Amino acid sequence: MLKRLIRGVQNIFGTPPARVVKTPRVIKASVHKIDPNLVSWQAKRTCENLQRKGFKAYVVGGAVRDLLQGVTPKDFDVATNATPEQVKRCQKRAFIIGRRFKLVHVVFGREIIECSTFRALEGKGQRKDSDGRVISDNVFGEMWEDAARRDFTVNALYYDPVTEEVFDYHGGFDDIGEKVIRMIGDPEERYREDPVRMLRAVRIASKLGFSIEPATQKPIPQMAPLIRNVPSARLVDEFLKLLTCGQAVRCLKTLRQLKLHLALIPVLETMLSEPEDEAFLMLAMRRTDERLAIGKGISPSFLLATLFWPQVRRHWAYKEKEKGMKHAEALHHASRDVLAAMSSSLSIQHRYQEEMYDLWRLQLRFEKRTGKHPWTLIKNQRYRKGYDFLLLRSLDGQVSPDLVKWWEAFAEGDDETRLRLIEEAQEEARRTGSEAPKSGRSRRRRRSNSKAKRSE
Ligand code: ATP
Ligand code: MG
Repeated sequence: MLKRLIRGVQNIFGTPPARVVKTPRVIKASVHKIDPNLVSWQAKRTCENLQRKGFKAYVVGGAVRDLLQGVTPKDFDVATNATPEQVKRCQKRAFIIGRRFKLVHVVFGREIIECSTFRALEGKGQRKDSDGRVISDNVFGEMWEDAARRDFTVNALYYDPVTEEVFDYHGGFDDIGEKVIRMIGDPEERYREDPVRMLRAVRIASKLGFSIEPATQKPIPQMAPLIRNVPSARLVDEFLKLLTCGQAVRCLKTLRQLKLHLALIPVLETMLSEPEDEAFLMLAMRRTDERLAIGKGISPSFLLATLFWPQVRRHWAYKEKEKGMKHAEALHHASRDVLAAMSSSLSIQHRYQEEMYDLWRLQLRFEKRTGKHPWTLIKNQRYRKGYDFLLLRSLDGQVSPDLVKWWEAFAEGDDETRLRLIEEAQEEARRTGSEAPKSGRSRRRRRSNSKAKRSE
């Protein structure tokens, strides 16, 4: 009751929870009601092996958050007071990884349990840059310090799979009950230390359907530009996590509301303020969420290609209409321009950029349904992705649903059906003049026809 009252006062006056809390609240199984069957045996074994040697070892982070909500965690992290070398000695197969802060991967076949040593609160080894961002730290510490270093109260819960107790230093258990994301300590200071926490707040809140507590949310819009100090590869990583957390629509809306998108991808603002482009992006995000909900995967390049497609489309149309470029040439230049502009704010792997380019260029090939084109296109290894992209465009009204149906029938049909479909498409092209026959043979035929006409 008293705790709730204090929380209420904190909410009104925005007092941050103190970071120096050395004694946790111990929550018994009868209260937290975690189902032990949801805990992977590998995580339990890792903890048991360490505890048997006299060390502390707990499941920690997102996994405890999920367990408390009755959800099977996607992965398990363990925190311990054993050093990486000691962890390695306690486990059958374990590998020390990382240079700056060593972690141990405890391996059970395909399952990996990431095991980290409790980290110190303000270690001697900690260095900050001029904006207050932590750039180096590597000192081990006490369990309470480890808890205080974590970002949100709901992420600072420790579960002992042996005794089935939860250790809560910062009120995370109550916050899960109240569905709020609350920063441990002073939010401004914590965002300055690591601006990525602003994105994490959005992701975790969106994923869980939680709200961001007012004091945690308030500084974000004005601190958002600090995101630009974060190494770009980490930002891309976080951004992709946001879009693939299963709640991309919510994430995008919240990013925009908190002005985080401006720092992340400035051009998103331009796209989101054009109703037509916004509708496409939201449709793409909705479909991403739906795919993930039924257990289907999403490739990063597909996601990025949809995200930047509105830009490509605009450049494409401009180059064709205003610059007089040919249809295909205009798309090539538009794609390259958009990728170049994107690279100036996000360092996206070269491989993904090439896949995005291919996906966009492939859209042209879906327009060609005559001659040998369809036969070669369905053999292309990116056909499926290209088709999914075409489908998305058709749902947005950018291409006719008949075109999608045609490709679906072609891909599924036998040779006879395919020949018939091509003939129908050729007939349609002749009738409407919309799609000139483009195969080599057809071109030759056209040329010889015109020669014949000239000699008549
Ligand atoms: P997810 O379910 O998406 O994996 P998560 O909370 O487990 O969410 P991770 O990135 O796996 O996220 O991080 C594991 C834990 O490490 C977090 O729960 C949090 O306690 C801590 N953590 C991660 N990133 C930060 C950060 N930037 N600042 C402070 N603590 C962090
Ligand atoms: Mg995790």
